[in-house]
Amino acid sequence: MATIDTRLAANDPVPQIRARVAACTRLLNMAGILHYSGHVSQRAPGEDALYIQSRGESRAEVTPASVLKVDFDGNVLEGDDKPPSELVIHTGIYRARPDIGAVIHNHMPMAAALTMARGARFEVMDFHAAHWVDGVRVMRAVGHIKTEADGAALAACLGDGNALLLRAHGLVLTAESAPGLLVDTLHFEDNVNALKQAFAFSRSVEPVAGEDFERIGLTEDREHRVRKMWNYYVLKGVRAGAIPECWQGYPDVTLYRPGEGPRS
Ligand SMILES: [Zn+2]
Repeated sequence: MATIDTRLAANDPVPQIRARVAACTRLLNMAGILHYSGHVSQRAPGEDALYIQSRGESRAEVTPASVLKVDFDGNVLEGDDKPPSELVIHTGIYRARPDIGAVIHNHMPMAAALTMARGARFEVMDFHAAHWVDGVRVMRAVGHIKTEADGAALAACLGDGNALLLRAHGLVLTAESAPGLLVDTLHFEDNVNALKQAFAFSRSVEPVAGEDFERIGLTEDREHRVRKMWNYYVLKGVRAGAIPECWQGYPDVTLYRPGEGPRS
């Protein structure tokens, strides 16, 4: 229960990856988690490269066509803008962890606040956050992550985990795909909010632990949850005008269709 399978589906078509990176970025912008900074990436299948938005484009306006393809040395292979200044967060993790398919870095205020509260630590308060039961490490070094050495140090701090808090900065999560990142990011924020709320009731909290996880593990169906939540938020985003009903030139690649799983 403590881990999730974060491998990228090897046959994810590139138009789908581009559309879902763009949609995930816009939807997390709509949710207030990505704003003027933060970025979502997904690994390019079979290559030492990734898909990510450009440095200058608004998180509210990313499109499948504007998403860059960038190699692990930071060279732009497709696109005509620079990648985000903290690209090495992504490349450092992909280099160190071939099992990871997608990465998000954001400046979630509640995540940064958690790193600044003396004695506080991540606890599982919502069973949807159960795959972080082993805890979430904190990278103590403060500041932007901009050099190859910074990226490698961050990946070392992440270790074999799927989440890393950056002190006075934000958060890094890893998943199998951009839709998986959307789900995990929302659950992470919900969980930290629940932790804060629990402390408002009592100075002593009782996190989900022990035998709870055995029961949760029996019923967890991540593929179904990712598919269900992704479609819900995509349709909500369409109704709110945050994303178009159809990306021009990228038909039917944003929503999961019946029978299609996140890893299919
Ligand atoms: Zn940052």
